[in-house]
Amino acid sequence: EMFGQLTSGLEAAWTKLKGEDVLTKENIAEPMRDIRRALLEADVSLPVVRRFVQAVSEQAVGVGLIRGVRPDQQLVKIVNDELVKLMGGEVSDLVFAKSGPTVILLAGLQGVGKTTVCAKLAFYLKKLGKSCLLVAGDVYRPAAIDQLSILGEQVGVPVYKEGTDVKPSQIARNGLEEAKKKKIDVVIVDTAGRLQIDKSMMEELKEVKKAVNPTEVLLVVDAMTGQEAAALVTTFNIEIGITGAILTKLDGDSRGGAALSVREVSGKPIKLVGRGERMEDLEPFYPDRMAGRILGMGDVLSFVEKAQEVMKQEDAEELQKKIMSAKFDFNDFLKQTRAVAKMGSMSRVIGMIPGMGKVTPSQIREAEKSLKIMESMINVMTDEEREKPELLAESPTRRKRIASESGKTEQQVSQLVAQLFQMRVRMKNLLGVMEGGSIPALNN
Ligand code: GDP
Repeated sequence: EMFGQLTSGLEAAWTKLKGEDVLTKENIAEPMRDIRRALLEADVSLPVVRRFVQAVSEQAVGVGLIRGVRPDQQLVKIVNDELVKLMGGEVSDLVFAKSGPTVILLAGLQGVGKTTVCAKLAFYLKKLGKSCLLVAGDVYRPAAIDQLSILGEQVGVPVYKEGTDVKPSQIARNGLEEAKKKKIDVVIVDTAGRLQIDKSMMEELKEVKKAVNPTEVLLVVDAMTGQEAAALVTTFNIEIGITGAILTKLDGDSRGGAALSVREVSGKPIKLVGRGERMEDLEPFYPDRMAGRILGMGDVLSFVEKAQEVMKQEDAEELQKKIMSAKFDFNDFLKQTRAVAKMGSMSRVIGMIPGMGKVTPSQIREAEKSLKIMESMINVMTDEEREKPELLAESPTRRKRIASESGKTEQQVSQLVAQLFQMRVRMKNLLGVMEGGSIPALNN
């Protein structure tokens, strides 16, 4: 089974949550260690693992539980969604030229499966109804040209070759001319690999790229090399500029590190994956299906999704209100009061301010004046204080500072803070969400 070890490593995490009612910072600690270990053992690069674990942890404790869904099931879903995100989210389609032949330049180290990919890709595109021409640009190994010819014949796609004495950039240019003449849709250019990255290979690739101005420059990497594959994609992208990667040998016992690291490390998507030696074993890289395969818990995922859907419909409105009222801070306060003031109608906001029921014109003028006073105090608050009014409720020192910086009295600051909490509660009541939201006493 593909990524079997990773799958069972992650499974350990879910089992530790069986019997829990909620996800907390404490009870996810051990499962998160399991996830971290499983990813590292799968050869995912360390910074990627760190970011991943952090993102999952934050969501696990930050998101409310979905009704009817167990915490372990919810964690599966969170991990799934983060895996999908990690791999780029959406499938990244091949791009085709708007006019004239599309040129796909293939690069890669020796033995990664580049020649095989050339033929597989032609076969794949043929099925999409596109005519192809393979160009034999690997001039250092006569065997490579022969191999490409044999594979081309096998998939019924012509191969353009000029032997080993012509420069690859020239062969590529001539191949493209040939394709234009014959009105062929896609030209796939094979290039020479080396055992390791070297300067002459990069120079040659740059020349070929310049000669044919490819629509796609794809680096073929071997999934068995794990995070090294991601490093290669990064290097090739910096050196020659690529549009994506093709990951081969995903059928072997690769551990998953390459599939999970390439996008995050290099910023470039995996566009296609090779999953076997047969010509039909090349397919688009679907991050969601890949995540699903890694977790091997399709039923849990669809169950959680359904539950989420149901809850979304039922609670969308209520949830929004809750968030609004619970988060109502000094920034919202300012936005709200300014917006209303601009509209020339203060009465609604004033109505919310305790002790102001019916509104008269003189009261409006009074309210506008007090809005200016409030603004001057809010202006000298730190971002943190604006977002967390509790800080001001708790700390007389902070209130004192705001008073002196805004030229107001401490009493006025205290009043403002008290008003915000009163508004929170009023808004909650207005919105019909009664629970929570007590008014804290100001500490002195
Ligand atoms: P190149 O040196 O990069 O051109 O590599 P080749 O195309 O010659 O492939 C090297 C070896 O890897 C060959 O034996 C291929 O059959 C094999 N190969 C290529 N792609 C895959 C794949 O997706 N899965 C498996 N299992 N083998 C592959």
